[in-house]
Amino acid sequence: YCAKRAGGGHAFYRTNDDEAARRHLQLAQDLRRDVAGAAMVLHYQPKLDLQTDAVSAVEALVRWQHPVHGLLYPDAFLPIVEEIGAMPELTRNVLVQAMDQCVAWRREHLKLSVAVNVSAADLEAPGFADLVVGILRERGLPANALTLEITETTAMENSEPAHHTVRELHTLGIKVSIDDYGTDHSTLAHLHRLLVAGELKLDRRFVTHLETEERASAIVRSSIQLAHALGMAVVAEGVENAESLAMLRQWGCDTAQGYFISRPQTADDVAAWLTRPAASRAYGTIRSS
Ligand code: C2E
Ligand code: MG
Ligand code: MG
Ligand code: MG
Repeated sequence: YCAKRAGGGHAFYRTNDDEAARRHLQLAQDLRRDVAGAAMVLHYQPKLDLQTDAVSAVEALVRWQHPVHGLLYPDAFLPIVEEIGAMPELTRNVLVQAMDQCVAWRREHLKLSVAVNVSAADLEAPGFADLVVGILRERGLPANALTLEITETTAMENSEPAHHTVRELHTLGIKVSIDDYGTDHSTLAHLHRLLVAGELKLDRRFVTHLETEERASAIVRSSIQLAHALGMAVVAEGVENAESLAMLRQWGCDTAQGYFISRPQTADDVAAWLTRPAASRAYGTIRSS
């Protein structure tokens, strides 16, 4: 029903549209002010190594502490960041905060590697690999302190500049992870040749209801096998219960992430959580047999 788009709609709809447009415009303006600053805060979600039951990596997830609207999640503002062309600024901010935090954790003897999500606009920006290396070097961090997550969709856009950047990052020893991996195995083989990614993250839509969905479990099992055959490590995201975690262990999945293990938390909360005895963390008591 598109009467309102044709301009002949009821005034009620027009008012709503105006309202939404005004809010959008205001957010875009606020973002220009905040995108490179401390209003962008990072939460960190642990990645559990299923071989050792240890957490040696976390993923940085950005939130926007908005002065009026409170804490906003990526879905509410990343599209606007893209739209105003500010993704490179946001990513630089996130990389700097994440690597500063990595140094701070190392001072507390927490040797964590941090994953940062990057977008197509980042990978296409000239000099991105140099920027990343510079940030690591300034802090005396090794390349393996950082992983960059790029979505399968971004990777499949077939942008040669982006693929070039990914290969450059790989040569520099920075791990690249393919995020939100779907179902298409030919895609995976294609990407593997193109990009030399070291890690595959299975999308949570296949993982979350693994224990009840046969189709999802077939996809997950075969993806683990194929990724391993290609020399990639596999992370399952969106693990929400003990049953799925047990299945993933059984199938040789390398790493798990999800609410069942831990929600994304502030840096201080992650440190506190990690220094608790493993047995007091719920997943620590789960075994596959
Ligand atoms: P992603 O990289 O795939 O991150 C996983 C998302 O799933 C996160 O949402 C996380 O909080 C959520 N999640 C984790 N475990 C579970 C679970 O067990 N169940 C469910 N239902 N959800 C779970 P979040 O933080 O809202 O981030 C959404 C997306 O925004 C991310 O998806 C990523 O693509 C993007 N994003 C986040 N931070 C950044 C950033 O700094 N830069 C860029 N470019 N993108 C970012
Ligand atoms: Mg991610
Ligand atoms: Mg993901
Ligand atoms: Mg996702």
